[in-house]
Amino acid sequence: MSNVTQQLELYAKKLVTSGLVVGAGGNLSMRDGDYMYISPSGFDLQEIEGPQWVKVHIGSGAVESELKPSSEILMHLECFRRRPDIDSVLHAHPSYSVGVSSAGQEIPSMFPDFPAMIKNVKYLEYMIPTTHVLADAVADVIEETDVVVMRNHGVLTVGTSMKEAYFFMQLVEEAAKVFTISSTVGTPRLLSDEECADLRNLSSEKYRAKLLKDTK
Ligand SMILES: [Zn+2]
Repeated sequence: MSNVTQQLELYAKKLVTSGLVVGAGGNLSMRDGDYMYISPSGFDLQEIEGPQWVKVHIGSGAVESELKPSSEILMHLECFRRRPDIDSVLHAHPSYSVGVSSAGQEIPSMFPDFPAMIKNVKYLEYMIPTTHVLADAVADVIEETDVVVMRNHGVLTVGTSMKEAYFFMQLVEEAAKVFTISSTVGTPRLLSDEECADLRNLSSEKYRAKLLKDTK
């Protein structure tokens, strides 16, 4: 089993056990040279084994495995084509992020790690999943961000490693969760633009971002 499929297997299990997806929802992929490996369609993410990860040529989109790739394959292909700097794409349906964004809200900076690690978040209005329309909408914004929130659907993150893409996913969901909790007991105090800028300039936070990128 290659290192890539081992990583995919590890994070597929993490996605399910952490509650970021339910059942067969969500999908993930990693680049391997000119190819990507993506989760097969219809599988519970935690049950996918090495050879079942579907090999797809990034340039042509040609599928080189017997199993059918995730129905969100187009979205993943567009991310790898538009972002030569990334090697991992993660798509999940985290409940707080979907809940907050579907109320028309943006997920705000509630605690220091969020602005320190995530430079911006792009929001897409609801579009039918698995279509060219959604893949094109993701393609339009993915060069400017690592985090795309799709209202009434889910979240897509990209990273230079699966660890990074997963961390972005966790941070967005945690921020949405803290915002929800805060909103139920009062009016949330959000970090100001100035506070966010200060955090981005903190050397210790920069160090953490570097550390994460170096660990593949
Ligand atoms: Zn989805």
